[in-house]
Amino acid sequence: MKVLIAGGAGYIGSHCVKIMSEQGYDVVTVDNLSTGHQGAVKGKLYVGDIRDEAFLDDLFKKEKIDAVIHFCAKSLVGESMEKPLEYFDNNVYGTLVLLKAMAKANVKKIVFSSSAAVYGEHKEMPITEEYSTNPTSTYGESKLMMEKMMKWAEIAHGFNYVSLRYFNVAGAYPDGSIGEDHRPETHLIPIILQAALGKRDYVKVYGTDYPTPDGTCIRDYIHVVDLIDAHIKALRYLLKGNKSEIFNLGSQDGYSVLEIIKVAREVTKIDIKQVNSERRPGDPAKLVASSEKIGRILCWKPKFGIKEIIRDAWLFHKTHPNGYEK
Ligand code: UDP
Repeated sequence: MKVLIAGGAGYIGSHCVKIMSEQGYDVVTVDNLSTGHQGAVKGKLYVGDIRDEAFLDDLFKKEKIDAVIHFCAKSLVGESMEKPLEYFDNNVYGTLVLLKAMAKANVKKIVFSSSAAVYGEHKEMPITEEYSTNPTSTYGESKLMMEKMMKWAEIAHGFNYVSLRYFNVAGAYPDGSIGEDHRPETHLIPIILQAALGKRDYVKVYGTDYPTPDGTCIRDYIHVVDLIDAHIKALRYLLKGNKSEIFNLGSQDGYSVLEIIKVAREVTKIDIKQVNSERRPGDPAKLVASSEKIGRILCWKPKFGIKEIIRDAWLFHKTHPNGYEK
């Protein structure tokens, strides 16, 4: 049983490589190292771009792959609005070339990362998979296009896929050996922990006038280890011959920005400074997943709560104050 992890040097992909290797899966990684880190990958790594068809064809000839887990993507909402064509090239065209190479090699099972960004703005929470999709960013649109490509590839070529619509992923492997190191960092929890380490003076709170109990945005945070557990369950589900599905991947618990800062102060025992700031364009007030479907069909439920998420991220940050840089 050999699994190709596309994007396995990135934050989420590297956790997948480590956890699946530990569980005895034979995994092979492909990554162009544009945002990923070689030091995060344990095991066999092919350095190359999934948009390079000849490179992928060669890889599928060398390795007898049974299934693919696909994490390769550019994933910054703000950047996607400034560089939409780069996002379509990287995320949509990259997936297209990957699917073509898979079809040629007769590899027809794929689990891939989608996003809550496919939904756009909704008032009623929690969000179920039946909600309409109306992305408000190029990033969300690129993920929706990937899902649609899978749907038609299933009909024409017999692919089976699971699309996992992530909410907010955070945390790190509990031994602190790998974790989140984005350049630049835009995500709330690593930014708070960088402030705790003194690498930033304060955390900016983007908007305090949202229609939420404390005025700050509410998000649904999920531990990266729980997230990978869902990918492994999705893979097993496909390997049993089950039909393609789309699942939300969130905890169904929402926390505001101020609540996250409070928990981070408790975990780190550091009085992290905050400064109230303007809203960040494009941020919906509240995003919380319904996790009913994934619980029912994949028997998945999160094991880690917000304290453990921040505790494990903190261990990685403390032990890697400069990320993967030596
Ligand atoms: N946020 C913030 N300050 C920061 C980074 C993020 O107040 O320095 C807020 C952001 O506005 C959002 C929440 O924290 O409401 C989570 O943002 P993040 O970028 O981590 O994830 P997103 O929800 O955008 O995918």
